[in-house]
Amino acid sequence: MSVKRSTLTDSGWSHLGVVARTGSVFLPAAAIGTVGHELGHWVSSHLLGCAPVLHFASVSPHCPLDAPPEVELLGVAAGPLSTIVCGTAGMVGLARWQKTAQGLDFKGIGWTVLALFWSRPLFNLIVQLGSVALGLVGPQRLEGGDEARLSMAMGWHPLALSIAFAAMSLGVVVWTAFQIPQRLRGSWAAGAVSGALAGFAVWMGVFGPAWLP
Ligand SMILES: [Zn+2]
Repeated sequence: MSVKRSTLTDSGWSHLGVVARTGSVFLPAAAIGTVGHELGHWVSSHLLGCAPVLHFASVSPHCPLDAPPEVELLGVAAGPLSTIVCGTAGMVGLARWQKTAQGLDFKGIGWTVLALFWSRPLFNLIVQLGSVALGLVGPQRLEGGDEARLSMAMGWHPLALSIAFAAMSLGVVVWTAFQIPQRLRGSWAAGAVSGALAGFAVWMGVFGPAWLP
């Protein structure tokens, strides 16, 4: 058993190869994650009687003027909910894969992409706090975004839900990394971060605005 494991783990997957393969699987992750999240908003708004329009990183709800405020809030909540459901499905798949995994195959990398849908609240909070700290945007930016709108609707501090979800997000990111065989973990992480960030830039800057303006 141990012979088989070491043979497969070492079979042609140099560390640079792991970085490249992981990076390529993570390239479309930001686009898929963003559209999946926005579809959560779109589907729920549609079901609630609005006429939503899907954009590459947002949804215009277009609800009837006489719609109760809960309708718009449910539409807001459905985005993060969709992301969490997908991410949790990824965690289940990853945990099952990990039990029989021999090294890091494409299937395993794919499950980590889905599990890391959970990284959205952590990523958003870092970008939000970072851009306010650097003076790129005003502090009112902290009141934008799904979690902030839901927090304020509950009468909480605008960052309350963002921080709670970012803490859970951090836990899932660490858990996900620990499902990867230890000797490949660093290479997987390097590929995941570089692939996801490159894909994010290309989706937000090029394909997103062109395909879903
Ligand atoms: Zn959203």
